Amino acid sequence: MNVLVINAGSSSLKYQLFNMETEAILAKGMCDRIGIDGHLKHKPESNGKPVFNESIPLPSHAEAITVVIEKLTSKDYGVISDLSEINAVGHRVVNGGRKFSESVLVNQDVVDAIEACARLAPLHNPANLMGINACQKLMPGVPQVAVFDTAFHHTIPDFAYVYPIPYKYFKEHDIRRYGFHGTSHRYVSAQAIDYMGGKVEGSKIISCHLGNGASLAAIKDGKSLDTTMGVTPLEGVPMGTRSGSIDPALVDIISSLEGNIDLKETMDILNKKSGVLGVSCFSSDFRDVETAAGYDIETGHKMEDKPVNELCKLALDIFCYQVAKFIGSYIVTMGGVDAIIFTAGVGENSPYARFGIIERLNGIGISMEEPKNRFRGLGKFVDITGKDSMAKVLVIPTDEELVIARDTLKIVK
Ligand code: ADP
Repeated sequence: MNVLVINAGSSSLKYQLFNMETEAILAKGMCDRIGIDGHLKHKPESNGKPVFNESIPLPSHAEAITVVIEKLTSKDYGVISDLSEINAVGHRVVNGGRKFSESVLVNQDVVDAIEACARLAPLHNPANLMGINACQKLMPGVPQVAVFDTAFHHTIPDFAYVYPIPYKYFKEHDIRRYGFHGTSHRYVSAQAIDYMGGKVEGSKIISCHLGNGASLAAIKDGKSLDTTMGVTPLEGVPMGTRSGSIDPALVDIISSLEGNIDLKETMDILNKKSGVLGVSCFSSDFRDVETAAGYDIETGHKMEDKPVNELCKLALDIFCYQVAKFIGSYIVTMGGVDAIIFTAGVGENSPYARFGIIERLNGIGISMEEPKNRFRGLGKFVDITGKDSMAKVLVIPTDEELVIARDTLKIVK
C-alpha cells in the first residue's frame, strides 16, 4: 500500500510517497512559488531515476498536484506506473481547533470544520484545504486523511489553555492555547519513552522542537500537559523570525514608533522581522548566525581567530536563555523531568544551541556529555546525557511525514 503525504502551504506544497509495507520513501519533492510562477523539485528515491529541478508554471494548488502526479507516474522520473498505485493521501492540517483530538478520514463535515477554524490559522488552514480539494478532484475515491498539528495538545488542562483575558473570547470565539508541532512532539516523546523502558504512566518529558519555528511541550504520562505556542504559532520561545512571547503592549509601541502603522504591518514585524533575525540584524538561519558569532557549526566551539558579531551572539544568548527558562518552568509544572529531547533543524544539528541550553540547567543537576554533543545531521537517535545528570538529554530526529503516513494507513485500514 502506498500513501502520499501532502503538506500544503500558501505558496508551496511538499510531498512524500511512502511504501507502507517497508515505510520506504519512494519519492519526495516540493512545489514552490505556487500562484507566482512555479518551481518543482522532484526526487525519486527508490529507483535511481534523475532529480527533476526546474521552473514550471504552477498557477494553483490543483495544478501543483497535477504536476506532482504526472512526475510520480512519468517514464523518466516516476516511481509508480499509474495513479491507482496511490492508495491513500495524508494531509498535514495546521489547526484542528477544539474539534479534532486525533487524525480523521476527510469527508464534507471535516472539510467544513477545517474551514470553520481557518480564522484561527488564516495563513495555513486555507492552504491545507486547497491541497485536500485538489486531491479530491484529481483522485476521487482515494481516501484522504487529515492529521492535525494541534491534535496532540488536546490533553492540555484548561488552566494551561485558557488565556487570562475576558472569558467570552474563549467561550464565544474559541480563543485558547492550541499549540502546534503536535505530530513531532508525539513522535519524539514516544521514542524517548520506548528508549527509557516503555513505561508511559509516570513519564515526564520535555520535547524541544527547535527549527525555524520552535516550540516546547511538557509531556506527562505520554500526554501533552502544556506547550509554548498558543492560539497561533507566534507565542513561546524566540524563533528564526518570530518574536515569541513579549509584552503585549509592544504591539501598540511598535506601531507608534513606525509612524502609526496598522495592526497587520505591526504583526508582520513580530512574525517576520523579529526573533533571531530581528536581534542579530543579520540572518534568521542559525548556521549563519552561529558562524558570524564566531562559533564552529560542526562542534559548537568558539573559533578563536574569528571576529565576533556581538548582535549575533546576543540573538543566540536570548534564544538559549528563553528555551532554558521554559524547560525550567515545565520541570516545575510536571514535578520533575525524566528526559529532555532536542529535535528539528536546530535541535538535531546545532551543538552550540544544545550546549547553550543545557549549560543553563547545570545548576539544577541537568548536564550533557560535551564530546558526545559534537555532531550535526546524523539523522539518528543520540543519547548525550552527562554523567550524574538527573534527566536524560536526547537528540531524536523528527519525522512528521512518517507519522502522517502511519496515521493515514491506520485510519484507512
Ligand atoms: P522549519 O521546518 O521550521 O522550517 P527546520 O526544522 O528545517 O525548520 O529548521 C531550520 C533551521 O535549522 C534553520 O535555522 C537552520 O539554520 C537550522 N540548522 C540546520 N542545520 C544546522 C546546523 N548545522 N547548525 C545550526 N543550525 C542548523
